[in-house]
Amino acid sequence: MKAEVISIGTELLLGEILDTNARYLGARLPAHGIDLYYISKVGDNLERLAGVIERAWNRSDLVITTGGLGPTEDDLTREAIGKVLDEELRLDGELADQLREFFARRGAAMPERNLKQAMLIPSARAIPNPRGTAPGWWVERDGRIIVAMPGPPSEMERMWEKEVAPALESRADAPRSVLVTRTLKTTGVGEGHIDEMVSPLLKSSNPSVGVYARADGVQLRIAAKAGSRDEAQRLIEPLEAKMRAILGDIVWGADDDSMEQVVGELLRQRNLTLATMESCTGGLLAHTLTNVPGSSAYFRGGLVAYATEMKVEWGVDPEVIAEHGAISAECAQAMSRAVRERLTADIGVGITGVAGPDPQEEKPAGTIHIGIDAGFAEPQSFSYQFAQGREAVKRRAVSIALAMLRRTLLDEQGAGAP
Ligand code: ATP
Ligand code: MG
Repeated sequence: MKAEVISIGTELLLGEILDTNARYLGARLPAHGIDLYYISKVGDNLERLAGVIERAWNRSDLVITTGGLGPTEDDLTREAIGKVLDEELRLDGELADQLREFFARRGAAMPERNLKQAMLIPSARAIPNPRGTAPGWWVERDGRIIVAMPGPPSEMERMWEKEVAPALESRADAPRSVLVTRTLKTTGVGEGHIDEMVSPLLKSSNPSVGVYARADGVQLRIAAKAGSRDEAQRLIEPLEAKMRAILGDIVWGADDDSMEQVVGELLRQRNLTLATMESCTGGLLAHTLTNVPGSSAYFRGGLVAYATEMKVEWGVDPEVIAEHGAISAECAQAMSRAVRERLTADIGVGITGVAGPDPQEEKPAGTIHIGIDAGFAEPQSFSYQFAQGREAVKRRAVSIALAMLRRTLLDEQGAGAP
């Protein structure tokens, strides 16, 4: 089945919003054995929208649109589909009632304009949307399908997952071949080296293996094509096991795992607590750690000691700063010890550096020092020089700190760099 995605909205063309809907759909279609050949973006203009839909209708089996289903004048998706198929839009009584109820439950009267969202053409049926007012459209004619979904990602994602994907899956002509992927995430070893380590496995064509460098480490993607998801899974498993055996504990997670979850899980298993003192990352490490639900079980808290006086106020030895400067491995080390003691945690982390763009204390932008002080291990520090912009430097510092924490927790002897 050949598919095509059309993202609708002038905001997309002006760069005001990113087309995350197309990315979401692009990532999910292969699992259903559907080939996505084109993604288009088009503004809220009836002629141009109808033109793009018509071209898609003529060359694809499945056309998926998102956006333009709202009640306002520039929401034109329904009109455009009606125009392309030359079918008339009619008010559907049942949908109109449902819409009125939706507003009544919120204690509001329904604006007349919203009736537009209760329109159908003869070839369309409505797709329920409990998260919003606009139902989607499932249009089927001449063996081809148009699915129109709302623009807001939370509405679109639910509609895809609960309505559209199952409906596509249950069709008699559902494809007999699906693509399943498994991504292993590693840290601490470069792309070239990983490629060498797993090179005997890279020759496999189904499953195929790809090696990708990401900001937080190298990822290996295993992709298998088979008649069913289970069958694809069975192709992936032995290859994944071989890969894990070769790579050992540099693999820190898979698929949607995040390093902060992994670190949290290790802390929880070992019944240890953590505290942070951050300078150049401005609290980003604490923010990242607390993105994990339940992090209060192990995260004691974080101090943002931006000014040098605050580092001293919170327990960093002023002599360390006088001797080595506030931007030094020694200072990061002292910060980690100070915060561990101040916040009575088992492990303290200190981060100092120059986020940039200007140098500081004669240290170049991108300088990062991270200290880790754990009661059970030798204190350790790691220094690095990044060449990216300010935000990227902060993010890199945080991912390195998390990787160091994981290493410390895995190996209570306290190994060196992550
Ligand atoms: P509404 O009823 O909210 O008007 P709609 O179906 O008409 O829904 P749009 O008006 O096109 O959708 O978009 C509504 C909002 O949804 C946009 O402001 C934007 O925040 C988000 N959105 C729309 N399209 C996309 C997209 N392709 N990717 C990410 N977000 C999107
Ligand atoms: Mg709208």
